[in-house]
Amino acid sequence: MPAGGGEARADQLATLQGLAHERLTSPETAALLARWVDMSTGLPLDGTSAEGGEDEFARALLRETWRDYTKASQLPNDFVMRLGKTCSLAQQAWVEAKRHDDFLAFLPHLTQIVSLKKEEAAYRGTAGTAYDRLLDIYEPNATEAQLTPLFDELKRRLIPLLHRILSSSVKPDEHLLRQQYAAERQLTFGKMVLAAMGYDFDRGRLDVSAHPFTTSLHPTDVRVTTRVSEEDFTGSLFSCIHEGGHGLYDQGLPKAFYGTPLGEAVSLGIHESQSRLWENLVGLSLAFWEHFYPLLQKTFPDQFSGVPLKTFYGAVNLVKPSFIRVDADEVTYNLHILLRFEIERDIMENRVQPEDLPEIWRDKMKAYLGIVPATDREGVLQDVHWSLGAIGYFPTYTLGNLYSVQFFNCAKEDVPDMPKLIAAGNFTPVKIWLNEHIHRWGRTFTANSLVARVTGKPLSLDPFMAYLEAKYGDLYHL
Ligand code: ZN
Repeated sequence: MPAGGGEARADQLATLQGLAHERLTSPETAALLARWVDMSTGLPLDGTSAEGGEDEFARALLRETWRDYTKASQLPNDFVMRLGKTCSLAQQAWVEAKRHDDFLAFLPHLTQIVSLKKEEAAYRGTAGTAYDRLLDIYEPNATEAQLTPLFDELKRRLIPLLHRILSSSVKPDEHLLRQQYAAERQLTFGKMVLAAMGYDFDRGRLDVSAHPFTTSLHPTDVRVTTRVSEEDFTGSLFSCIHEGGHGLYDQGLPKAFYGTPLGEAVSLGIHESQSRLWENLVGLSLAFWEHFYPLLQKTFPDQFSGVPLKTFYGAVNLVKPSFIRVDADEVTYNLHILLRFEIERDIMENRVQPEDLPEIWRDKMKAYLGIVPATDREGVLQDVHWSLGAIGYFPTYTLGNLYSVQFFNCAKEDVPDMPKLIAAGNFTPVKIWLNEHIHRWGRTFTANSLVARVTGKPLSLDPFMAYLEAKYGDLYHL
């Protein structure tokens, strides 16, 4: 779409969203749902289960439609408008505040958003904690009670691993990846990797944007973007792979259920598991580079022709604490989320006030990553989420990382020669396995049921930690 069309498109979208919201929350929808489900709980009126059984899809459709109806009906119109207006102003203020490294300019907006999100939590019922009700918007059924022990354990196990890595005598050469790489060649390479992953360019396309994203209009029209910097080819390539993982999920959703909740992805966490699986477990694996490194050397001969595969592999997997979440490696990434999770939870429970955030941020960075950002731009102001009112969103990134390892372990059990196939450039079994076990089900199962069904176990930190310990133990000779 040409840039000049943005404003009119925003109006069109607002009109469509308004109409869709009106229909979804209409008395007619309520009356139809009430014929089948208890409107206060969403459970079937005949006392049977909302999941499984003979009419699995029908049950899921009722359960998820009731959920969407309930969520959409909880907020009064005037609140939605107030929140929308506040966030739109807050987002503009955030852009400026970040540019000028001026937290105080953003503070009044953040304070307003926090108070509106508390108001929102109150509209959303009385179940669980206020933070639970915000988490549930992004990751259905996720709760503080589930996440707190998970993050506590993460903290207990991840920080010592990081310290062991940092005191290792192995020092990968990070400058290897900081040379000049022509943008066009980067994009050609990224496209080739996307095609190898099974991303269907007849039902998708790749473009360039400042921040990479995936936008899905239908399983037959799923578009991804990447960013490109000539000094850093990994930023572009791994964005391609990451968004490609999101894109494959959306291209794999069931067309027959398009327009219903069952034609949609389960949750943000499950969506992120798909992008992270491809980006980290496939794209950062030695097997992947056994296939692609010779091709990369051909694409950038001046930069890589004399560099052995193992040296390159060590460099792309460099572990180094950094200020910016989106640039973080696999080991430190979740510590960035841990810090945000603790701050959000404490804000919602009034243990922390918005004006204290820069200092709390620095303290937690010091404690978890051992470094302190000199500016708020590289600290509390770095992410857009809170300015959009998205409190409760960050944990879905860590959930995605944990799910991804659990899923991939199962895929490898089902297809034992998976690494060999990947090393030979054959990614089809990975894609097919994900299509089969995750994508084609849409929202038929909740996240917890899907994980239990696919892996035979509930969500756990163990597989993720075992993966990190094995991979980085090897790389850093721990
Ligand atoms: Zn993502």
